[in-house]
Amino acid sequence: MNMDLVGTVAHFPAPGETILGREFRTVPGGKGANQAIAAARAGGDVQFVGALGTDPFGDTLAAHLAAEGVGRDGLDRVDGVSGIALITVADGGENTIVVVPGANGTLADLNPVQQQLIRDADVLVCQLEIPMAGVTRGAGIAAAAGVPVLLNASPVTALPDELIDAVTVAIVNEGEAADLGDAVLQRIPHLVTTLGAAGARYRGPEGTTAAVGAPAVNAVDTTGAGDAFTGALAVAWSRGLPPAEALEYACAAGALATTVFGAGVSAPTESAIRELLAG
Ligand code: ADP
Repeated sequence: MNMDLVGTVAHFPAPGETILGREFRTVPGGKGANQAIAAARAGGDVQFVGALGTDPFGDTLAAHLAAEGVGRDGLDRVDGVSGIALITVADGGENTIVVVPGANGTLADLNPVQQQLIRDADVLVCQLEIPMAGVTRGAGIAAAAGVPVLLNASPVTALPDELIDAVTVAIVNEGEAADLGDAVLQRIPHLVTTLGAAGARYRGPEGTTAAVGAPAVNAVDTTGAGDAFTGALAVAWSRGLPPAEALEYACAAGALATTVFGAGVSAPTESAIRELLAG
């Protein structure tokens, strides 16, 4: 989980230059937190395993999770700063982003409470914004306890064998799928590929496949669509829905997220998802 510090500028400063920005806002972010909140809104009973610093951003971010109904039993507060992203957005929409991991960088191992939460869960959802050692450890604990592991392989990077062997469902967009490559993806039992406005594709064990179109919506901002999709897919998977139905639920959530402007969480509630699916 990060605090995004977003400033808008007419143009980016050159090295050594100081310029005046226009607007500034702080927005809670980070894929893990966004997906946890998306899952809670989509009807899940969610515990967040993560780390924040002892700085004021840590307090704000923890309160943000609480306000969204996300459990914090597995939230570690460690000495130092919380993860932050320094974002400048220039006229025309181009941005520069500096991510400082802060407390997220301490998640190479998991404390006993975090480990037990994973064993007790119906599903574990991971992303790659914490150290790979922490993801691999969490996924290994889940797999050993028979808990399905859903990995949103983003930001995409090479995956260690131990992690690949623990993953039940990989959730990737087309670029991430290409970066990981068929050799890796074929080792994962269930593969979900998101296709933007075209929806999502599923490939299961023994070559079963499904394709689900995204509902037609008035998309105004696709930021956060992938996180809404993953959070909702996790809820559907935890309920034991067949893959095609789970993808429909997730596609509806992703589509609804695109109808909301702005940074921050744009994920829809369970009732909004159901309403869209009911047509
Ligand atoms: P990412 O943002 O991670 O690259 P995608 O762009 O594939 O992910 O979007 C994730 C999901 O959000 C899609 O599978 C789809 O369900 C939904 N989605 C994204 N863009 C649109 C759109 N323009 N219209 C409807 N649904 C969309």
